[in-house]
Amino acid sequence: MPYDAPNLHPDLLQCLASDSYLLQLTLDTLPVPIFYKDKEGVYLGCNKAFESFIKLTREELIGKSVYEIFDEELAEVYQRADQALFDNPGVQIYEKQIKTREGDSVFVRFHKTSFNDNQGRVAGLIGVIFDITELKAMEEQLTHHAIYDDLTQFYNRREGIVIGERLHHACCQQQGELGVILIDVDYFKLINDTYGHMTGDDALRHIAAILKQAQDQEDIVMRWGGEEFVVLVSRPFGTAQDFDNYLYEHAQTYCEAIRQHRFQAGDDALQITFSCGLSAFEPSKSLTQMLHDADAALYRAKDAGRDNVSW
Ligand code: GH3
Ligand code: MG
Ligand code: MG
Repeated sequence: MPYDAPNLHPDLLQCLASDSYLLQLTLDTLPVPIFYKDKEGVYLGCNKAFESFIKLTREELIGKSVYEIFDEELAEVYQRADQALFDNPGVQIYEKQIKTREGDSVFVRFHKTSFNDNQGRVAGLIGVIFDITELKAMEEQLTHHAIYDDLTQFYNRREGIVIGERLHHACCQQQGELGVILIDVDYFKLINDTYGHMTGDDALRHIAAILKQAQDQEDIVMRWGGEEFVVLVSRPFGTAQDFDNYLYEHAQTYCEAIRQHRFQAGDDALQITFSCGLSAFEPSKSLTQMLHDADAALYRAKDAGRDNVSW
């Protein structure tokens, strides 16, 4: 509900437009930028926090419209939002990424409230600006951490499975083919034991970089855990003539890629190899079952001497 002037003041518009010392002092005490405008969109006043926010003094601001202060594009956005509030009086809240007059990019949340004149007609608005730039950056960081593995920047297992379930669902609808390559680094513990855990981490980053190079655009790679990675290989239905064969060859490509790029641990150039377990979609086979089958296949690859691919 818009604030009704008679309950507050006989003429709120006049009150806001007048140079009330008490009002100004109160508003200046508040550390968040506050401004108010009449219904033509002309600034009636602001507090000190708003002055430093837009780098203009009250005197420079009062009597101007957004078009005289901001660039055309931003002015349009503000004008449209103000008009929407006047058309639908009450409270309006929205977030926007804006460029300050100095060119810095900031995220802000506007809280605007319309007010009426003593005839009950919309007379203007009061706006408050919250700088949520840090909050947004933290939000983005948290989202990133929830999705990606820190060390390798591949999807983490949870996110990878969510994507896998979507791909699996498409297979069930006969829209695609899906295969799993479970990659386990051979004798990885030896690197840790010989060169230390930090070098082990570097080796994992090296492995991730090679996987990225060998990765097909459609491949979804996730860090399954430790030194294990899962590649979800999907193709639109009918595009791969012999998908099983394609999956096998594709896993070989990953093995070949890691063979070709030695990892430098101090003075030693280490040859790293992969063992891969494969599993392909079949009707009535769940994603969990596919991953389970790939794990069993991986054991067979290890048993067969490592550095190879097995079903
Ligand atoms: P294989 O798979 O060929 O049987 O031998 P392996 O030595 O690779 O197998 P194992 O599972 O015994 O060892 C995996 C090692 O990976 C054990 C663990 O310490 C190491 N590891 C797991 N996660 C990380 C990590 O994030 N950083 C480092 N440095 N090591 C890790
Ligand atoms: Mg392992
Ligand atoms: Mg291993």
